[in-house]
Parts: sequence; C-alpha cells; structure tokens
Amino acid sequence: MTDTPAEDLKPGFRSDVTVELVKHSAADSDVLWAARVSTAGEQSLEELTKDPERSKGLINFLMRDRHGSPFEHNSMTFFISAPIFVFREFMRHRVGWSYNEESGRYRELQPVFYVPDASRKLVQEGRPGKYVFVAGTEAQQELVSRTMEDTYRQAYEAYREMLAAGVAREVARAVLPVGLFSSMYATCNARSLMHFLGLRTQHELAKVPSFPQREIEMVGEKMEEEWAGLMPLTHAAFNANGRVAP
Ligand SMILES: Cc1cc2nc3c(=O)[nH]c(=O)nc-3n(C[C@H](O)[C@H](O)[C@H](O)COP(=O)(O)OP(=O)(O)OC[C@H]3O[C@@H](n4cnc5c(N)ncnc54)[C@H](O)[C@@H]3O)c2cc1C
Repeated sequence: MTDTPAEDLKPGFRSDVTVELVKHSAADSDVLWAARVSTAGEQSLEELTKDPERSKGLINFLMRDRHGSPFEHNSMTFFISAPIFVFREFMRHRVGWSYNEESGRYRELQPVFYVPDASRKLVQEGRPGKYVFVAGTEAQQELVSRTMEDTYRQAYEAYREMLAAGVAREVARAVLPVGLFSSMYATCNARSLMHFLGLRTQHELAKVPSFPQREIEMVGEKMEEEWAGLMPLTHAAFNANGRVAP
C-alpha cells in the first residue's frame, strides 16, 4: 500500500553530517583483560588497575606488533545521518561492522539534501593518484549551490508527484539523487574502527597516507572523537604507531 504523501514538504539543505554514539561497551581495560587472559588467566581482571604504565605499554606493544584480536572485545553503536554517496563508501567496510539503514520502501524519504559549504574544496588538481583539492572560486561555489539545490528540488517534486499518483515508494525513489541524506545504525569494535579510520581519514601521523572523500572523512572524524574519549590509551597507541589498524 502506498501512503498519501504529506503536504508541503520543502527540501532542506545541509553541509554537515550527524554522528551520535548511541550505545557502547568499550574501554582500554577490555583490551588489557583480553590480552592478559592468555598469561594471567582468571586473575587478570584484578591486575588491570595495578600498574598504569605497564597497561599503557602493553597496549602499545599489541598495537605495534599488530596483535589485533584483543582490540575486538568492545562495541560501539553509532547513529549516522549522511548523504547516500557517503553510505555507499561506508558499507564497503565489511569486516567487524553491522549496519541497519532506513528504508526507502517502507517510509517516505524526507527531503534533506547535501550542499557543500564554503569550507569544502571544490577543484581537483593533478593527475589521478597524485592530486590535491583546492578552494573553488566564488562563481564555482555559487554554481554548485544553485545547480544542486535546483536539481534536488526538481527530483523531489517528481518523487512526490509519483507518490501522489499512487506509485509505490520503492519505484518512485529511483529519481532521487545520491546527495539525499539517509540514516543508519553502524556497530563496530575498536579494531574495525581503526581500519576504517586508517582508510577514511587523512592524518599527519599516518604511516600509510590515504586520500578519502572529504564527506566520509567528516563522519570518520566525529566517530574518532567519540572513540578517543572511550579508549584514550588505545587511541594514543593507534596514533603513535602510524594509524595502522593492528
Ligand atoms: C581512498 C579510497 C578510494 C577507494 N576507491 C574505490 C574505487 O574506486 N572503487 C571501489 O570499488 N572501491 C574503492 N574503495 C573501497 C576499497 O576498495 C575497500 O572496499 C574499502 O576501503 C574497504 O576496505 P577493506 O576491504 O580493507 O575493509 P573490510 O571490508 O572491512 O575488510 C577488512 C580487511 O579484511 C580482509 N578481507 C575482507 N574481505 C576479504 C576478502 N574477500 N578476501 C580477503 N581478505 C578480505 C582484508 O584484509 C581487509 O583489509 C576506495 C577506498 C578508499 C579508502
């Protein structure tokens, strides 16, 4: 059955993304506990707080020598709202991630679309694999905002027209562009998040530089901030060892 579309839905435009940590069970002690189980057995829980320097050193050793599995015994669930083109990149990360995304079949998609603001560098210079982004001119910025907004308005109007005529949501959505915002729950652990961050952020400490699209990097930066608050020793060791996931 197709819902009658709500009246007067005006497109909204955003240049940012939403990342909220909705649930977590994640601490540096989870890493220590998992690592010490192999040597200290059942007494390991009591050992955790005894010697902070030793704990820091152990996490650093695990990171440096890429003993990755102790970094998996934790969980973080994020609510993320970002354009569909970001989600297409995001969901390529298959290992250690669980996803649930809003449905375009079961609900009417809301008209929120991505339009970059002035901080987004618009022009790519150099050859593939060796290029940089530089700021656009005012004329380019105006062109991007105007054409994106016009196109989004037109596309959403077409979507609504089809819904109003009784066409199913799953059919009508085909006209909507990848700049449309979607939302999802994404659950990961510190190891899978580090792998994601190594690929989807640019950072001066990265031993292996990556060149992610800015918009997925914006999501990554917000996730990293939340994670760093939960697992500061693990985060510091990740940075100290070149931001390579163990
Ligand atoms: C800057 C950038 C540009 C990109 N450009 C493109 C592009 O143009 N086109 C495109 O299609 N993709 C592109 N990607 C996506 C990229 O190829 C990966 O799919 C994505 O980064 C996820 O990485 P991953 O496979 O390591 O992660 P995950 O899927 O989370 O896998 C984690 C790790 O598990 C192991 N693993 C997972 N699956 C397998 C498997 N089947 N076999 C063996 N080992 C496995 C690997 O060690 C892998 O690194 C790009 C990514 C980046 C960061």
